[in-house]
Amino acid sequence: MDIAFIGLGHMGGPMAANLVRVGHRVVGFDLVAAANDAARGNGVEIADSAAEAAAAAEVVITMLQQGQQVIDAYRGTGGAPGLLASARPGTLFIDSSTIAVADARAAHELAAEAGFRSLDAPVSGGVVGAEAGTLAFMVGGAAEDFASAEPLLQAMGARIVHCGGPGLGQAAKVCNNLILGISMIGVCEAFVLGEQLGLTHQALFDVASNASGQCWALTTNCPVPGPVPTSPANREYRPGFAAALMAKDLGLAESAIGDTGVHAELGLLTAGIYRRFAEEGGAASDFSAIIEEIRARSDRKATA
Ligand code: NAD
Repeated sequence: MDIAFIGLGHMGGPMAANLVRVGHRVVGFDLVAAANDAARGNGVEIADSAAEAAAAAEVVITMLQQGQQVIDAYRGTGGAPGLLASARPGTLFIDSSTIAVADARAAHELAAEAGFRSLDAPVSGGVVGAEAGTLAFMVGGAAEDFASAEPLLQAMGARIVHCGGPGLGQAAKVCNNLILGISMIGVCEAFVLGEQLGLTHQALFDVASNASGQCWALTTNCPVPGPVPTSPANREYRPGFAAALMAKDLGLAESAIGDTGVHAELGLLTAGIYRRFAEEGGAASDFSAIIEEIRARSDRKATA
């Protein structure tokens, strides 16, 4: 297939390379020259603009940072034509950026108004998953559009789930990460409380991992070194899943909570805790490093 790939950063670069690897012709574009150069090295043809890349494509994939960037790319800015104005009739638009549900729905509407089919298809799995082609895709949009996109997504991912109509891929991602953020803070608070009460990390792990406290934050991404040797805590909290990205995703959850009026006290609190942690120096650490912040604040209180 002829695929346009807009946004060749940490995630988009390796995803585009995987599409080339299975035989697609990929024409890409990024605003950053170094990203274009790296993608060219992986067999991606580089266009002079996003609009030029889209003009030759059957499928346009965007992998940008924020919702407004996706909407601007679709619409065009400063008089320059956007992707929708440049694409050929029948082109399928797939946005894999992680953006607010409301922005994803706005992007779907823009595409539909311009006569195009579209999917929101955010991913989890990080750069490692993007490079290995093992991402999880959560997809929102019409069933027939999902069916036509699925083989393409399989070239970049290992688990592809159709979550429902427009925006519901983003909804699934934001709800999953809300569970993850809340459960990580719960696990970290329990370990710090256990420390203060004289419990070893291993004893708490052995009990909770086989009891009702069991969860991914404990058994895969354990925030203390030792019990799970592969968790980021064993390598000074190098990510993994960076706290900056958790803070971003919880900000999107916060927007969705505000838009829907859900009474999600823990969700809002968790979003605030990760935002502060990211702003105060934790951004580049794995999100399980929040345990150090909980410990530090506890110590300050104990010695006050
Ligand atoms: P990134 O910043 O590395 O890449 C985004 C790229 O988009 C940049 O290179 C930027 O120059 C480019 N860009 C922005 N506007 C553009 C435009 N108008 N035209 C062309 N290029 C444009 O970000 P990333 O880490 O690749 O993440 C991309 C998305 O995936 C984000 O929404 C992020 O939340 C999500 N995500 C990231 C990870 C991760 O581990 N990095 C994991 C899951 C999801």
